[in-house]
Amino acid sequence: MAQLSPLLKQATPVVVDHGEGVYLYDVDGKRHLDFTAGIGVTSTGHCHPRVVEAAREQIGKLVHGQYTTVMHKPLLELTERLGDVLPAGLDSLFFANSGSEAVEAALRLARQATKRPNVIVFQGGFHGRTVAAASMTTSGTRFSAGISPLMAGVHVAPFPYAYHYGWDQETATKFALRELDYLFQTVSGPNETAAFFIEPVLGEGGYVPGNTEFFAGLRERADRHGILLVMDEVQTGFGRTGKFWGHDHFDVSPDVVLIAKGLASGFPLSGIAASRELMEKALPGSQGGTYGGNAVSCAAAIATLAVIQDEGLVENAAERGRQLLEGARLIADKTPAIGDVRGLGLLVGSEFTTAGGEPDPATAAAAQQAAAKSGLLLLSCGAYSNVVRMVPPLVVTAEQVDDALRIWGDVVASVTGS
Ligand code: PMP
Repeated sequence: MAQLSPLLKQATPVVVDHGEGVYLYDVDGKRHLDFTAGIGVTSTGHCHPRVVEAAREQIGKLVHGQYTTVMHKPLLELTERLGDVLPAGLDSLFFANSGSEAVEAALRLARQATKRPNVIVFQGGFHGRTVAAASMTTSGTRFSAGISPLMAGVHVAPFPYAYHYGWDQETATKFALRELDYLFQTVSGPNETAAFFIEPVLGEGGYVPGNTEFFAGLRERADRHGILLVMDEVQTGFGRTGKFWGHDHFDVSPDVVLIAKGLASGFPLSGIAASRELMEKALPGSQGGTYGGNAVSCAAAIATLAVIQDEGLVENAAERGRQLLEGARLIADKTPAIGDVRGLGLLVGSEFTTAGGEPDPATAAAAQQAAAKSGLLLLSCGAYSNVVRMVPPLVVTAEQVDDALRIWGDVVASVTGS
């Protein structure tokens, strides 16, 4: 008899039978409030009827049509639809299956287009687990442990994580930009730097939003030195933050946008978007994979985009996000064990710290496990795994947010004794 590899480290003992909306039902018939959404993926809720129907219909017509051989209708239609929501000028798309592959595709594009070797990433950023993407990931050593030598040419600049530094946002931002300039002087001259890879909100790194001044600083340096600004919207795209794109909060125009997760409601699909002019600078035929732009995934993505628009999910994420953030802050106010609560839209993180202000992953894990026992599924994040994050489907209602906050309040009170 075969068994699942111990490589998989499962956060809860839950074995799911089926999902519906914001709920997962396990094999014993217990209902769980799913505030993980498959790590920010099932934005339209589990098994949204319109997404299911679109996928079902497509399965009956064509499952796979390999895009370097033949094109298919869902891929062309999705490309057109994405044109309506992508930032102006990013009118050229390439599709893959996972966030990591999108990162790799953008890395190839950036190096080929600029003919420069280096990329600059930002402390606490997460870009995936393939070796190149893991080499660009600094949200925890666990993601690149034991696989050295990592890809060369990656340099790390600070992210304005004010709480971590113990500074206000302005000071943290000034520091981060000054260190970036220092990095240009010391390890990766601007003419050697192909791209900045950055998330609008650090995801796995602890749900830390960037800010307008910081992104203006990056944009200015990118323009001055011919460096590409690659925005990793894998976790933050498609309304997750209460605006369509995470970077919409910060008044910045990226050169490349990476998409995945919320794009197709759980069907594997990712992509990169850039201007045609930039895409033309890459080497033709050097990109692509067997399954990229799968027909069923594309059909699911077309339906997902329609649901996001028709059901006002971006607006819902903004409103429910405010409710969740405020509620989580009120809970944190009652205990010294949570040092900071932050987020944007339906990305809300509570950072657990000891009395001395040190990261406290043990209490965070205890709270996460106690919540799971009480029927609320949550995730952790942060370099120290001391941030408990809430990332529910964007269809979540005010009542469901209240339910989650009630459970979270009880759990925090019991594990912290407050
Ligand atoms: N970039 C970001 C910002 C992510 O959050 C993730 C996944 N958590 C990835 C890239 C990698 O995506 P995948 O796991 O689909 O390879």
